[in-house]
Amino acid sequence: MILLEGVHTEADAAHFAASLLASFHEPLLRSQQTRVPTVAPQLVIGIAQASILYSHPEELMADAESALLHARRQEPPGVACYSQGMREKAVERLELEAELERAIRQGELVLHYQPEVDLRTNRIIGFEALMRWNHTRRGLLSPAEFIPLAEETGLIVSLGQWGLAEACRQLVEWRSTGSEPLQKARISVNLSGKQLEQPSLIGQVEKILAETGLPPACLRLEVTESSLISDGPAAQANMLALEKLGVGLHMDDFGTGYSSLDYLQRFPFDTLKIDRSFVRDIAWDHDSRLIVGSILALARSFGMDVVAEGIEDADQLEELKTMGCPCGQGFYFARPMDPAAIDAFIATGAWAYAAEALQTPIAQA
Ligand code: C2E
Ligand code: MG
Ligand code: MG
Repeated sequence: MILLEGVHTEADAAHFAASLLASFHEPLLRSQQTRVPTVAPQLVIGIAQASILYSHPEELMADAESALLHARRQEPPGVACYSQGMREKAVERLELEAELERAIRQGELVLHYQPEVDLRTNRIIGFEALMRWNHTRRGLLSPAEFIPLAEETGLIVSLGQWGLAEACRQLVEWRSTGSEPLQKARISVNLSGKQLEQPSLIGQVEKILAETGLPPACLRLEVTESSLISDGPAAQANMLALEKLGVGLHMDDFGTGYSSLDYLQRFPFDTLKIDRSFVRDIAWDHDSRLIVGSILALARSFGMDVVAEGIEDADQLEELKTMGCPCGQGFYFARPMDPAAIDAFIATGAWAYAAEALQTPIAQA
């Protein structure tokens, strides 16, 4: 803890904090040698300003701590000053964390499934499993509302383990129903960076495959570029081991990270998922078309498959087909649905998207 006296505005304190953080990265001269200190990459500072409104020092410290939590979560992490509402947010997060632990134990997490379509045949080839939290009070929560928290707290490991096992179990059940297109379907499961760094990951995947009897090639693991940023040796070893097992590896949200091309070279991805921000404007925006065209060309030269994400209308689909994009998913085909809704959807036969049927949106679940 640092106590600053004689500082009059928050901006002065923030300025001091920023230069303090910067000073940790400056080289030190020690015994005639220059050393650059290594510091935790996410060194952060939270600031609270004393005032007569505080009756105990603990209150001031609690507010500085709320600001610290905020500083850690902002992009990029750094310095944050306390503002009204941060304390309530911090308390809410603590409650949510406790609830999430309970949710995992009590089975409140569910998976929804979104069809992936082969754009050349208009047929469903598989599903992406997307996690939801069926919260007792707050209803169905999207991953954005709990995955970042799960990642920060480490709960993502047990959460991800459950998701992986459940998605494989569901796929085996679907494949054994014998009905087309479930019979030959594959499943994509999202993996967080923390999971990828677990030395136990390969053992878990092997165990799930052995217990369910699922062919490894039917399992696809999706990794985003941002989850590879910490880029430890464990992640790379795990990716290579997964490839050896015969499990598919998708690079998710391709094009949105910092060093996409570098990752392509170092990790054995077999599929690129074009981020939906490039698909959104593809029907009219020249730049989006150029980017998608380059990604398709890149994938072809690396011998990789491509899935376009976020297809929402017929124009986007048409453009992607014209450009030769092999696969896609999006609300235009189907929204993510719970397993019962997927069963009902398959039973209607609407999944065999006829070209003319694709002129109007289908399956608004
Ligand atoms: P993602 O893996 O890129 O998943 C695609 C997201 O785009 C999903 O959001 C999906 O509902 C949404 N989407 C699909 N088609 C369309 C469309 O046509 N238009 C629009 N606007 N959106 C579309 P969702 O389910 O909210 O998931 C968000 C992210 O949360 C996922 O992005 C993934 O990174 C993460 N996530 C989901 N489930 C898991 C999980 O089990 N484990 C981990 N680690 N992350 C997960
Ligand atoms: Mg994904
Ligand atoms: Mg994505």
